[in-house]
Amino acid sequence: MILILTPNTDTASPEYELLMRYLDSLKGIKYRTHQVQGAGQRLTEVYLIGDTAALARDFMESLPCVERVVRVQETYRVLGRHGEADLPFDFEYNGVVFNQDCLHVFAGLCAVDTPEHVEAMMKAVQENGQTCTRMGAYKPRSSPYSFQGHGKTCLPYVFELAGKYGIRIIAMEVTHESHIEEINEALHQTGTPTGVMLQIGTRNTQNFELLKCVGRQQTHPVLFKRGFGITLNESINAAEYLASEGNRNVVFALRGMKTNLGDPHRNLVDFTHVPVLKRLTRMPVCIDPSHSVGGRQRSPDGLLDVMHATAQGVVAGANMILVDFHPAPSKALVDGPQALLLDELPLFLEDVQIAREAYLKRAALIKNYQVALPV
Ligand code: PEP
Ligand code: MN
Repeated sequence: MILILTPNTDTASPEYELLMRYLDSLKGIKYRTHQVQGAGQRLTEVYLIGDTAALARDFMESLPCVERVVRVQETYRVLGRHGEADLPFDFEYNGVVFNQDCLHVFAGLCAVDTPEHVEAMMKAVQENGQTCTRMGAYKPRSSPYSFQGHGKTCLPYVFELAGKYGIRIIAMEVTHESHIEEINEALHQTGTPTGVMLQIGTRNTQNFELLKCVGRQQTHPVLFKRGFGITLNESINAAEYLASEGNRNVVFALRGMKTNLGDPHRNLVDFTHVPVLKRLTRMPVCIDPSHSVGGRQRSPDGLLDVMHATAQGVVAGANMILVDFHPAPSKALVDGPQALLLDELPLFLEDVQIAREAYLKRAALIKNYQVALPV
């Protein structure tokens, strides 16, 4: 059972204390509080764990500070939607708000290679009115002999350049818990000029010990990639590890499924799952068209497959786009063949805008029809 408290509930107030005292008196029931600073308000939720079947919903709703009570299903307790259409959820990180209505573009390098490329990328992001990017310092590679990323040595200049170009968030993969400390240390050293969204890559979707470590820290939000060879249900359960450890500021990323049935694309594009995730969970949903498509092929209409896939995800309501760009793809140390060129960024963003407008029109359309439908 989740108790959703009145927004901005003061946890020092006598009413809150009364509520806590009542919850303490419940035998066989433990509770855990989650606080989320959203856009303009702080939301507190109390999760009751144990045999809550005997607790009457009406009574629980009458307790001080409680605005609403939701009976949770067993799975995805914290991140799940539990069949509730309007369950409030958003979070703000470094001035950027994430929820199931927003749309943010994280265009950037798959992997940091040189300071010049990082700077050129960030400059292009800023010139195109964007404030988020992607940059990999720790790269999980199929072969141990491939470039593994520059690791902590590149972090200071990456963060300083981000500050210079007004980048508010960098999505950056971590593959080991020590990487979180290294990122925190470099942010501290450089005066925290930017924010970092910790990315869990598809190869680590079920690395439960890493998930627990990333879930225990609440400084940075998490971009969680779907596992490439497991069910959607298994991936959502894995994301729940983050939330069960305390960090529910999680964005779920679709990045395609590994199967030859997706040929000639690198992975089978799975963006029809955008609305499924929004229905099952409260997480904002990201699409990664670059790792899904994996190349720069284009159809006779002139549009790149990456752009088609992006539009399909956006028209289905995606909330974030993670996409590879590079100033000189032939010199990229990782995933050059799938990178878009900096000159293509304005085109890409304009195309995203067309798809976004189509999505907003579709969402408004169904609302109109629902109003007109007989009850
Ligand atoms: C990436 O985004 O650079 C990456 C390695 O993605 P994935 O984990 O989806 O393969
Ligand atoms: Mn990559």
